[in-house]
Amino acid sequence: MADLDVVRARALELMSRHLSPEWSFRFDTAKTRAGLCNFTKRTISVSKHLAARSTLDDVEQTLLHEIAHALAGPEAGHGEVWLVLARSIGYTGSRTHDGPVAREFARWHGECPNGHEVVRFRRPTRPMSCGKCTRRFDRRFLIEWRERSPEELAARIATPTRSARS
Ligand SMILES: [Zn+2]
Ligand SMILES: [Zn+2]
Repeated sequence: MADLDVVRARALELMSRHLSPEWSFRFDTAKTRAGLCNFTKRTISVSKHLAARSTLDDVEQTLLHEIAHALAGPEAGHGEVWLVLARSIGYTGSRTHDGPVAREFARWHGECPNGHEVVRFRRPTRPMSCGKCTRRFDRRFLIEWRERSPEELAARIATPTRSARS
């Protein structure tokens, strides 16, 4: 359980080390992802709900993941450029796009034909194509959804999973 003041201090320290001063930090109230890099506003934010439920090490990894997005630029996605930058600043996690807690509790799991994973809390109502494979809706990259059973969710929550960020 990370103290929010400590998280903010750590965020500012890491950002001053790696980013130019026009980037700022804030908390957001997202429940389904751990962090976000907003290129338009030049902000890096961390969910206060998830921060409060994570260890400081986990939050730091979320920060490094988002800082690497800021360094790599919006076009980089979770590609090689982003990954190399992320590793160079100490990020040890995976490329996947969902918060550590979000992933564990999400009921709906989707996968595109190229194997990118997406999670949702609610049943997806419309056909959705993979955001990593295409920017516009494209049936060639449709996500195929699968619902997790309550037993499966319980088993996952009981098992520590690898953490992931957006
Ligand atoms: Zn994909
Ligand atoms: Zn990301």
